[in-house]
Amino acid sequence: RAKAKGRNRSEVFDRALHDEALRTLDLENDLRRALIEGRFEPYYQPIVSLEDGARVGYEALLRWNHDSRGVLAPESFLAVAEEGGLIEQIDWLIYERVFRDMGRLLADGEYVCINVSARHFHVPGMAERLLGLLRTCGADPSRLRIELTEGALLDEAHNVSAALYDLRVAGVRTQLDDFGTGYSALSYLHRYPIAAIKIDRSFVAELDGNGSQGGHAVVRAILALAQSLGLETIGEGIETPEQRRRLAALGCERGQGFLFAAPAPLAAVAG
Ligand code: C2E
Ligand code: MG
Ligand code: MG
Ligand code: MG
Repeated sequence: RAKAKGRNRSEVFDRALHDEALRTLDLENDLRRALIEGRFEPYYQPIVSLEDGARVGYEALLRWNHDSRGVLAPESFLAVAEEGGLIEQIDWLIYERVFRDMGRLLADGEYVCINVSARHFHVPGMAERLLGLLRTCGADPSRLRIELTEGALLDEAHNVSAALYDLRVAGVRTQLDDFGTGYSALSYLHRYPIAAIKIDRSFVAELDGNGSQGGHAVVRAILALAQSLGLETIGEGIETPEQRRRLAALGCERGQGFLFAAPAPLAAVAG
């Protein structure tokens, strides 16, 4: 009897795995079709100065205009796109769109940030390819920043450091995304040409009146570290005036979040 039960359980388990595999395959096929049909698009979210609220630039965020499910954010498909090796193709399409949008999008002195998956550095020549595409699109490299997560810095095997220096020499700055959630590679920070760090929104969320003292301490520590290394700081996911006020009081210079504006397509942000 126990055996029968065990078998049933494993059949249920196999079935679940099978369904999961099919869903992944479906999604991968949908992604491939969406690539061919040109259904990916950058949305733009303003980045502002916390002191006076003035816009300093935008972050470009990938969106999928799905034929039946509406506009999808990366959360629902990024993992499958990465595993299926599709994110590289999607990203290069997005980067080209962003570079072509820059002229219309950016006012004097503003910049745009793109998200770059660590996988891009596994292919040699990432920096050259990015700079080449900027040239082709007639875009100014000094108006571009790339966002990497901390994990990318730990990847000694792929010469990420050399690529970041090549980009920096050409004018492209690098900022660290979701800072504090990854490996917090503090010892690596000064070895890379990093211009800014983005404080992850999980810490920003704890800055509300009823938030824990722990969140405060982490934000304070990150800001102190950034200041001592001469790095600019950006608070992510700011949703309330209280979060904005506390970040600014702690010395954070810039921010983005729904409090200021949600990500929107080019037509909505640049008239
Ligand atoms: P991220 O780079 O940390 O982007 C910030 C995320 O926070 C975005 O989610 C943005 O829409 C969301 N956000 C902005 N303000 C608020 C707020 O006030 N509250 C809350 N709750 N969320 C806010 P999104 O657009 O879903 O992107 C998720 C992640 O997907 C990004 O995190 C980034 O890691 C990745 N990603 C986005 N675009 C691209 C891309 O073009 N290429 C690659 N490889 N990854 C991308
Ligand atoms: Mg980002
Ligand atoms: Mg982030
Ligand atoms: Mg993130």
